[in-house]
Amino acid sequence: MRKFSADKLVVASHNEGKVREISALMSPFGVDTVSAADLNLPEPIEDGQTFIANAELKAHSAADKSGFVALADDSGLVVPALGGRPGIYSARWAVNPETGERDFIYGMGKLEEELNKIDGSRVSDSRAAYFACALSLAWPDGHVESFEGRVYGTLVWPIRGGNGFGYDPMFQADGYDITFGEMEAARKHDISHRANAFNKLINACFK
Ligand code: IMP
Repeated sequence: MRKFSADKLVVASHNEGKVREISALMSPFGVDTVSAADLNLPEPIEDGQTFIANAELKAHSAADKSGFVALADDSGLVVPALGGRPGIYSARWAVNPETGERDFIYGMGKLEEELNKIDGSRVSDSRAAYFACALSLAWPDGHVESFEGRVYGTLVWPIRGGNGFGYDPMFQADGYDITFGEMEAARKHDISHRANAFNKLINACFK
């Protein structure tokens, strides 16, 4: 396991919210972050077949092109009864063909339709799902360390709550009776797939 010993880290994302969140998580470790957008780095095509493959290709690309250690993530919702869909295609699953725009109300409705097609006798099993988050830290010499975090739960219908984003209103984590859409942000951040992956990364490479 390689430790991070540089003083600068590229966050391989063009999403400002994600960069801000990752920078805040890294600041207690004295790590100065810069984003891929700030450095004008190109966005690679995400054609990996797993969350880790996609996180690694983004991290490798940013490390290669910037010469700094780079951190990238990839995440999504996995429904085993739907053969793992939407999985790595979670963002694309929510694109409404009528508008061409991403719309999670549409995406959650489509998930519910697919669940309803499954044999009724196993309905509660079929509603099991998990969020996954992969984090990859890549060095300019090609070395990479990757971690995956998960949070397991059930898909509810109708959807509940206006907090969070994406599929949060449809996802109820095991042991809770409220959805991520009904949960305070701080509480979700304590138990989420992202928190789980970050804890693994911090313990392995930053302590
Ligand atoms: P990406 O990691 O930015 O490619 O995002 C993947 C997609 O997975 C997002 O657009 C959401 O649809 C979904 N997703 C990932 N994490 C969460 C979460 O914490 N809540 C709800 N949806 C999520």
